Amino acid sequence: MGLTIGVDIGGTKVAAGLVDEQGGIVASARRDTPSHDPGRIEEIIADVVRELQASHEVEAVGIGAAGFVDAARSTVVFAPNLAWRDEPLRVNVEKRCGLPVVVENDANAAAWAEARFGAGRREQYLVVLTVGTGLGGGLVTGGELYRGRQGIAAEFGHVTVEPGGRRCGCGGRGCWERYASGRALILEAQELATVSPAIAGRLLELAGGRPEAITGLHVTRAAQDGDEAALEAFRVIGTWLGQGMAALTAVLDPEVFVLGGGVSAAGELLREPAERSLQERITARAYRQVPAVRLAEFGPEAGIVGAADLARRR
Ligand SMILES: [Zn+2]
Repeated sequence: MGLTIGVDIGGTKVAAGLVDEQGGIVASARRDTPSHDPGRIEEIIADVVRELQASHEVEAVGIGAAGFVDAARSTVVFAPNLAWRDEPLRVNVEKRCGLPVVVENDANAAAWAEARFGAGRREQYLVVLTVGTGLGGGLVTGGELYRGRQGIAAEFGHVTVEPGGRRCGCGGRGCWERYASGRALILEAQELATVSPAIAGRLLELAGGRPEAITGLHVTRAAQDGDEAALEAFRVIGTWLGQGMAALTAVLDPEVFVLGGGVSAAGELLREPAERSLQERITARAYRQVPAVRLAEFGPEAGIVGAADLARRR
């Protein structure tokens, strides 16, 4: 078995890597995403594949795409941030590259990297929660990616956790990602800095005195410096995370939750309150093993590594 290529297609960039059997990236390439022209995106995928193919024998290509991918792992049915509607991506890229291609949802691909080579590599049942701007993730049961009937399972961010709560971009209200995400962290910090500026000294200092200018990085840095408001913002979103994880545990009984995405770079600031909240809320706690809560081991390259491995196992 040789090398495969993983391609991660986001709203702004196409990132690709040549990946070995142990999940190591041997070489990488990247381009900007031309968001409004499907044909042009395929050209760019073929272009990065050619670049990585030039010096190595390549077996197959895995593509992680931000959108709904059909159950045959072939067509992107819908991509909110790209021009794809029922785009037969597999066939089109196979034609251009002459290599077998597998298409997967990007969050699933990233979850698969953690399951195979990262924080869940010793477990068979895991939930990966990608805490970024929103909240996404993936689900692995019995050592296999759980994709659901239409390949669109594990959209954790839009589970209702607060009926009638905050409005969500999906059209609903009270979705989990409105309470447990990078966006929610900023919202909490801004509110705390507005109503309780006395406990938000460092946070306000970083944001130039303007609560509305507070960013996610400000919250993390202020929390690391001991700012009470920033620490409280992490406790609040960690608690919401743990509450949702307790509900998922009742349904799925996983061995581990893996916290990934940009916000997980804050480490224990996020993990610790999430774990505590899970332990407090889990049902039948005395009679079961409580799932572990771990930080992801891959950063932004998870999608590349996961897509490449899925292509190897096609
Ligand atoms: Zn929603």
